[in-house]
Amino acid sequence: MRRTRSRTSSLRNTSGRRSYLTHKESARALITDRVIHFNKHYNLPLGKIAIRNQVSRWGSCSKKGNLNFNYKLLFLPAELRDYVIVHEICHVKEFNHGPNFWNLVGEVVPDHRAMNKALRKINAKVVANMASDLPTNLQPQILQK
Ligand SMILES: [Zn+2]
Repeated sequence: MRRTRSRTSSLRNTSGRRSYLTHKESARALITDRVIHFNKHYNLPLGKIAIRNQVSRWGSCSKKGNLNFNYKLLFLPAELRDYVIVHEICHVKEFNHGPNFWNLVGEVVPDHRAMNKALRKINAKVVANMASDLPTNLQPQILQK
């Protein structure tokens, strides 16, 4: 009985957790590569990079300059992924969303407004399902928007 129960309860979280474990390292490799690439422009003292499994945040930055990224960035179109990465790098210098921050982002992503808008339309939760168990016919629909 115990065995059955634990199997059932682990099944409940299968898709998200398994997807995260499957894709975490690919996400880390790709994101780290892009962080290094964009920081050649900004040259900021970055802390650690962490890859997380988050429901609705794409990324965040701590006051120490540590960058956290959602592994689901792996499934975003490259331009949106790059925008999130640039956004978080810029927070190392500007820990706010003031005009200086947006100017800084704009040095590398001039159309950041459009990126922000596009990103809001994509729900991280949907992307998570897409990575694992969403019917394949729904996938292109989401990605092509
Ligand atoms: Zn921000």
